[in-house]
Amino acid sequence: MKIHEYQAKELLLAYGIPIPRQKLAGTIEQAALAAQALGGQCVLKAQAHTGGRGKAGGVRLAESASRAAEIAGELLGKRLVTEQSGPAGYPIEKVLVTARERIESEYYLAVALNDALACPEIICSGEGGTEIEALARERPELIHHIIIPPESGYCEYHGYEAARPLGLSPERKRRLVSILRGMYRLFVEKDCSLVEINPLAAIREDTLAALDAKISFDDNALFLHPELEALRDPSQEDPNEARARETGISYITLDGSIGCLVNGAGLAMATMDMIRSLGARPANFLDVGGSATAEKVASAFTMLLSDPRVKVILVNIFGGITRCDVIAAGIAAAARHTELSIPLVVRLQGAHLAAGQRILSESGLPIIQAREFREAVEKAVTAAGGERL
Ligand code: GDP
Ligand code: MN
Repeated sequence: MKIHEYQAKELLLAYGIPIPRQKLAGTIEQAALAAQALGGQCVLKAQAHTGGRGKAGGVRLAESASRAAEIAGELLGKRLVTEQSGPAGYPIEKVLVTARERIESEYYLAVALNDALACPEIICSGEGGTEIEALARERPELIHHIIIPPESGYCEYHGYEAARPLGLSPERKRRLVSILRGMYRLFVEKDCSLVEINPLAAIREDTLAALDAKISFDDNALFLHPELEALRDPSQEDPNEARARETGISYITLDGSIGCLVNGAGLAMATMDMIRSLGARPANFLDVGGSATAEKVASAFTMLLSDPRVKVILVNIFGGITRCDVIAAGIAAAARHTELSIPLVVRLQGAHLAAGQRILSESGLPIIQAREFREAVEKAVTAAGGERL
């Protein structure tokens, strides 16, 4: 689960990390009052669950309360589309008004999970700010990783190691070590998958402050933290993921163009790996479950069809407890209700295969059939236009 910047900053503050003074506004009047309370000079920031807001006009400087009101009027009620948001963007229902800091330099700082080592790690860079994604692509050596063994947890020397490449003054180094202690404690106590500050800014009087913050929580641990549920903002959530949660389908939106309908989490992950290894990207993770009904399959299929980013659908089913004929009936039922305007690659194996194949061929759907796993993925990648990474 993601939360807004203003919520992430309040959490940081609760863990002893300095943030600029801030006020939340849902109307133009509130924005003007907030700007006035902050002394006129302020920053207005669209609250939307996406990065890249600065470059997309979602972070704006104002010199006065009346200018702040104008900017709030331009932002509130619009959708923010950024390089990271996808074409639909996110609705802006609130703007955050913050005190305006004079920035000496910007750093990148995060505590995240290193999947390969199954450990938390600190990620930091002396070149923080809005160009961090480009930096990660073009100069990855400027982004530093410090592994934190979970058995020791965060120790001061981890903080000093992170500080070394940033070229900080001794006072700011000391502050960084303490900020990282707070970030690590937050990361562990609230079961986060990411605690990110970008930029962490060097500002007045030899201090540091978090000018932007992003926090994500591990959904599987949310039941341990009922207080976090109050931070959820449904207006920012993917409608497909919300619908899937209601239907009992495991579904996660990804950024590629191959829509996957698979049974079993293991096969679903293997399918995504195979797509990536053949140079393309999955549009989603979708596991209809080990004992899928035709209705579940139909609703999963309809979900994939409703996603404009999906250029081809790949069905990869191994019939064990799930029967191939049940899956086939679900696909045929869904395709009857929605026009199938994109290629559909189907690989069925296992229980009741012949009956499943009969249902599909009698459905008259223009299906690209495949027998083997790799063959199915190759056909899907080709049908998607051979899209490369
Ligand atoms: P993002 O683009 O969604 O990551 O939004 P950020 O909150 O990181 O803002 C983008 C950029 O706006 C930052 O990298 C800063 O350069 C600038 N910015 C944000 N807050 C302030 C501030 O208080 N003062 C000044 N001068 N610039 C700011
Ligand atoms: Mn940022």
